[in-house]
Amino acid sequence: MARYAIPEPKIKTLPIVGKDEVFPVRRVYCIGRNYAAHAVEMGHDPDKEDPFFFQKNPDNLNLTGRFPYPPKSSDVHHEAEVLVALKSGGTNIEYADAMSHVYGYALCLDMTRRDRQGEMKKAGRPWEIGKAFEHSAPCGPLHLASDVGHPTEGDIVLTVNGELRQEGNLNQMIWKVPDMIAYLSAYYELAPGDVILSGTPSGVGPVQKGDVMRLSLEPFGHLEVTVT
Ligand code: MN
Repeated sequence: MARYAIPEPKIKTLPIVGKDEVFPVRRVYCIGRNYAAHAVEMGHDPDKEDPFFFQKNPDNLNLTGRFPYPPKSSDVHHEAEVLVALKSGGTNIEYADAMSHVYGYALCLDMTRRDRQGEMKKAGRPWEIGKAFEHSAPCGPLHLASDVGHPTEGDIVLTVNGELRQEGNLNQMIWKVPDMIAYLSAYYELAPGDVILSGTPSGVGPVQKGDVMRLSLEPFGHLEVTVT
């Protein structure tokens, strides 16, 4: 096999609770407007929409507990989400079979340059610059589904400096985990290492340098991230 001509890019990995092994990430899919109250706060009618997805880059996943405020933005929002990790994949996965592909779950923040995203939306352009930037997906370790099961309800709470910002329940997701897997697999070939971000409840808002974001959801514990 030919040697690489340039330094080899690193495969992003997530730690796994209770295991020495790590989870290698292939792709990061993110669903938009998956909670009715958040769709409404962003100016949309949740009853009239099919699901839609965008992507972040695997190396945007950030396990440092720190979120460096990105350049070229002055309005960066937190979005409290759950990351769903796949151990297998395929195309045209049936709803009834979808959950058999889930390996585990992690807490995750879909950090968003809201100002840049808004401009791109208005211009009918892709969202990448608002979503898929460096360190933009702070997350915690994976919890194995074989340990914690497949939670379908539970209070998602995000505080900033101890003040309540986002509050929702997993059971309010419009497109549930098997819906997202079945839908995505009709358009993409899903594979081991793919992860899906679940969408966020209402209450998204800006952060500033020095803020401490704390996301909690049982049975996944909590994720604390400082804006630097
Ligand atoms: Mn999001």
